[in-house]
Amino acid sequence: MRRLAIYPGSFDPPTLGHLDVIERASKLFDEIIVAVGVNSAKKPLLPDRYRIESLQESTKHLPNVKVEGFTGLLVDFVQSKAALSIVRGLRATADFEYEFQMAMVNRRLASEVDTVFLMTKWEYSYLSSSIVREVATLGGDYSGMVPPAVAKVIHRALRKT
Ligand code: ADP
Repeated sequence: MRRLAIYPGSFDPPTLGHLDVIERASKLFDEIIVAVGVNSAKKPLLPDRYRIESLQESTKHLPNVKVEGFTGLLVDFVQSKAALSIVRGLRATADFEYEFQMAMVNRRLASEVDTVFLMTKWEYSYLSSSIVREVATLGGDYSGMVPPAVAKVIHRALRKT
């Protein structure tokens, strides 16, 4: 049986913290689908296509990683792929309560699906998409916080605003 895991998120924008979680997960599972939440109510900094394509470019060295957009309920997407695991990243304790709640809700909705938590390298543990958005929109240097393919699309998106 192929062990397939789904790594869901908004990835607005993808950061080096996300990439580190993807690299770790790709060693633990046979296949990873990075599921980029599209059509969110909030207007994202990066359009769906930029988030998906920049993640594809940033993970092309990982042959067992695919990137796809998804809408609707996460467990429906997980079940449609016949996956048994959801991967989520944990930073400091701040993430725990929300992640615990989501994992419990998802287990209630689909009892066969387990959530697996991975931690990044400590140097990325302060990084969040919202910090990158703030630095980028205020004109700061975000190049050390995101993969190069992501820096390119942030630059493009900001030029258009
Ligand atoms: P969401 O909008 O669903 O919270 P994000 O795109 O912000 O998703 O993040 C997706 C997942 O990656 C979440 O589990 C989040 O906790 C995790 N994550 C984000 N940044 C980091 C980081 N720097 N280190 C480890 N995990 C992270």
